Amino acid sequence: MNCKICGSNKIKKFKVISQFDLLKCKDCKVIFLNDFEKFLSSESLYNENYFERYLYENSVELNSVKSTAKYYLNYINHYFGKVNSVLDVGAGFGLFVKAFRELGLKAEGIEISRYSVDVAKQKFGIELFNGELKEYYSNQKFDLICFYHSFEHLPDPLSNLNLAVNLLNENGIIWLALPNLMSLDRFVNGDKWNGWSLPYHLFHYSPKSIKRLLMNFNFRKIKIQKSFLNPLKLIKTKNGAVNLTESSANFSLLKEIIRKPATFFFSGQNMNIFAQK
Ligand SMILES: [Zn+2]
Repeated sequence: MNCKICGSNKIKKFKVISQFDLLKCKDCKVIFLNDFEKFLSSESLYNENYFERYLYENSVELNSVKSTAKYYLNYINHYFGKVNSVLDVGAGFGLFVKAFRELGLKAEGIEISRYSVDVAKQKFGIELFNGELKEYYSNQKFDLICFYHSFEHLPDPLSNLNLAVNLLNENGIIWLALPNLMSLDRFVNGDKWNGWSLPYHLFHYSPKSIKRLLMNFNFRKIKIQKSFLNPLKLIKTKNGAVNLTESSANFSLLKEIIRKPATFFFSGQNMNIFAQK
C-alpha cells in the first residue's frame, strides 16, 4: 500500500478508534482510515441522517456563515488580493454560496448529496450542482475555490486538487478548511476529538502533511492559519469534547500578528490553508 499523499510505502498501524482502523504514513505523517472504500457509497453515507445535525435555525446559521465568509474574504484580500468569483466544493445546504452572493461575489457550489442539494433549493433558493468535482463542467474559471470542511472527506485528494487548480483563474486561490491533527484540541480530547469524525473523515492532516500534498503543485504562495485559543469561545460538544474555536466576525491585523507565536504552542481544532496559483 502506498500513501495517497506522498507516495511512500512506509505505512504503519496508528490506532483503532470506535472500531475504525487508522493507519499512519511514516514519511508525511498523514493519518488515514484503513480500507475506506467500503464506507464510500456516498448516497448512503451522506443521507438525511448525516445532514440532520447541520440543519439549525436558518437565519441564525446564515448569519454565522456570512460572518465567516466575510472574515475570510477580508483575510484573502489582505494577503492575496481581491477575489470576485468563488466555487464551493462540498457546499452542503448552499449557505456559503448564498453568503458569498450576498457579499457581492459570483458564487457556485457543488454537492455530492442529493438530499442536501434538494434542501438548498427548497429552503434557501440556491441551485447547486449535484455530483463530484470530476463530473462538474464549467466554461468559467474562478478566483477562489473553497473546500470548507469537505476536503478531509475526499478519497482522492490529489486528483481533486488537480481538478480544482485547473478551474482556477491566474492568481486564483484554493482554500481548504480542515481539522488540525496537531491541534491542542486533539491532544486534550483524545479519541473523542471531533476532528476524527469517523468514517466520514478519511484523511487527517497536520499542517506538515497538507503542505506536503500542496507541494505537488507549483503554488506561488501558501499560507496556513491555525485557529487559536479564545477563552470566550470554549465550546463543549454533545459527545463531551471541548473545542477551542474563535469568533470570526472581524479580521484584525493585531490578531494576525499574535496568531503565529500563539499557535506555535496551542491551537484550536481547525486550520485554514490558502494556496495561490
Ligand atoms: Zn505519506
